[in-house]
Amino acid sequence: MIPEFESSFTTALPADAARENQRRQVEGACYSYVAPTPVAAPNLIAWTPDLARTLQLPEDLESAAPLTALFAGNEAPRGSTPWAACYGGHQFGSWAGQLGDGRAISLGELRDRDGRSWELQLKGAGPTPYSRRGDGRAVLRSSIREYLCSEAMHHLGVPTTRALSLVTTGDAVRRDMFYDGNAQDEPGAIVCRVAPSFLRFGSFEIFAARRDTDTAQKLLAYMADSLFAHIDGTGDQRIGRIFEEICRSTALMIAHWMRVGFVHGVMNTDNMSVLGLTIDYGPYGWLDDYDPNWTPNTTDAQGRRYRFGHQPAVAGWNLERLAHAFAPLCDDPGVLAAGLEAYPQAYEAHMLEMYAAKLGIAAFNRDSDPENPHEPLWLLGEAQRILVATPTDMTLFYRALSTLPPDENASDEALLRPIEDAWYHPDSIDTAHRERTLTWLRALTHAWRHESTPAKTRTARMNAANPKYVLRNYLAQLAIDASESGDHNTLNQLYDCIQTPYDDQPQHNDFAAKRPQWAENRPGCSMLSCSS
Ligand code: AMP
Ligand code: MG
Repeated sequence: MIPEFESSFTTALPADAARENQRRQVEGACYSYVAPTPVAAPNLIAWTPDLARTLQLPEDLESAAPLTALFAGNEAPRGSTPWAACYGGHQFGSWAGQLGDGRAISLGELRDRDGRSWELQLKGAGPTPYSRRGDGRAVLRSSIREYLCSEAMHHLGVPTTRALSLVTTGDAVRRDMFYDGNAQDEPGAIVCRVAPSFLRFGSFEIFAARRDTDTAQKLLAYMADSLFAHIDGTGDQRIGRIFEEICRSTALMIAHWMRVGFVHGVMNTDNMSVLGLTIDYGPYGWLDDYDPNWTPNTTDAQGRRYRFGHQPAVAGWNLERLAHAFAPLCDDPGVLAAGLEAYPQAYEAHMLEMYAAKLGIAAFNRDSDPENPHEPLWLLGEAQRILVATPTDMTLFYRALSTLPPDENASDEALLRPIEDAWYHPDSIDTAHRERTLTWLRALTHAWRHESTPAKTRTARMNAANPKYVLRNYLAQLAIDASESGDHNTLNQLYDCIQTPYDDQPQHNDFAAKRPQWAENRPGCSMLSCSS
C-alpha cells in the first residue's frame, strides 16, 4: 500500500478545458490533464532507497517491484490526477513559444514525514498535448543518464531534482541519435523524477509572451504560497524578494556546477528551475581534461553557447528573461533589480568560497590583486591557466592536492607525484610546464604554512570539496552498454559508488580513473545530442 497522491498544483491552478490528448496550443491554463500511455512489459531496474524512505515508500528494489506498474504509467496510484505542465522558453537565445511537458507526466504529490510536499513525475510516459513532433518517450540510454546523474549530483551536494525509479518498458523507441538519417530502434525506459516543484523560468515566460497576466498572477500566487512561504512582505516587495531568492539559489547551483566540473549542455530557460535545482538531464557532460570551452552537446557545437565557462553568464541572461516575465506582475518592475544585482555577487562569493575549500585556503581576499603571485587569489587563476596549458583531468588534479607534502621545500618529485596521474599526456610535459606547475605547487604549500589551519582540518575540508568520483561520461556509457544488453551490474556498481563521492572507495577505484583512450571520440562519451 502506498500513500495517497495529492495535487495542490491542479487544485490551485487553471486547467486546459480540452481533455483529448492531441498536440495543441494550450491557452489560459497551467497544465492539461493527460494519462500516461501504457507500456508493453515494464521492468523495474533501479530504485532509490533513501528517497523512497523519505517518501514513505518501500525501501528496497524487491519490495518496490509490486509498484512497477505505477512507475511505468500502466496503473494510476490512488488519488492521482495526472497532468502535463504548460510552459515556454528561450532555446539557444531565441524565444521558442510553447514547449511544455512533452513526455513528462506528473502523477501528483506525496508528503514526507516532515510534511514537505514532493511532486512525482514520469519522464517518457507517452505523448501529451505538448509533445510537438516528439513521441513522448525516452530511450534507456538517456534515462540511465538522467537517473544516475540526478543521484550523483544529489550526493555531491549539488541542488538537483531527484530520481526515484528507472523502469524499462519493453517497447522500442526510434531515434536518430545524431540527426544524420540513421534512425534506429532503441529500448525505451521511464524515470520517475522527484522535486518539490518542476516550475521553470519558462512556466512564467509563456504567460508574459501571451500577455496573459491573469493566469500568470495565479501561478505566481501559487508559487509564492507553496514554495516561498518563508518569504514575507506583500505586493511588489514580496515579488522582489522571491525573485532575489531565485537569483541567489541559481547562483549557488551554478557555483556548484563550476566546482565539480558539470556542463549542463542545454541551459534553455525551460530547463531552469525556479528553485535553483539542476533539472532536465539531457546532453550534459563532465569535464575530463579541464577546458572551459568544452560542451558535450553536438547540437550546440557551432555557437557553444552552453560551454562550461559560459554557464555563469548564461544563467544571468536566463534570470533577465525571468525578470521580464515577472515585470508585468509588478506595479514597479524596479523591485526586480535587486535580484539581478545579487546574482553576480552571490555567484562570485560562492565560487570563491568553494574554490578556497578546493585549494585548502582559509578564505580568498576578494580585494587582493589576482596578478600578484604572493596573494592567495593568484593561486586560483594560475591553477586554471595551468590546467588549460596541457590536458589535465580536473577531478584528479584537485583531489590530489590534499595529498601534497605540505612543505614548499619538498623535492620536485615529491611535489609533482600526486598530480602526475592527472596529466593526459605525461610524455609531452616539457620543462617549462613542470617549472610553472612547481612554482604553483610551492606557492600553494607556502600559503598553507602561513595559515593556522591544522593539516588534518585542511585535508578534510579539501576532500569534502574535491570529489574523488564523478559520473564521468565514459562511465555512464559503460553502464548504458551493459544495461542495453540486459546486464545491470555496472549500473548498480556505479550507483553504489556515486552515493559517497568524497570517500575513498577502494572497491571502486576503477571509477576514479581518467578517461581512457577508447572513449576520447566515442559517441555518448564525448559527443551527445538532444536526441534522447
Ligand atoms: P529538452 O530540450 O529536453 O528540454 O526538450 C524541449 C522540449 O521538447 C520539452 O518541452 C520536452 O518535453 C519536449 N520533448 C523532448 N523530447 C520529446 C519527446 N521524445 N517527445 C515529446 N516531447 C519531447
Ligand atoms: Mg526540458
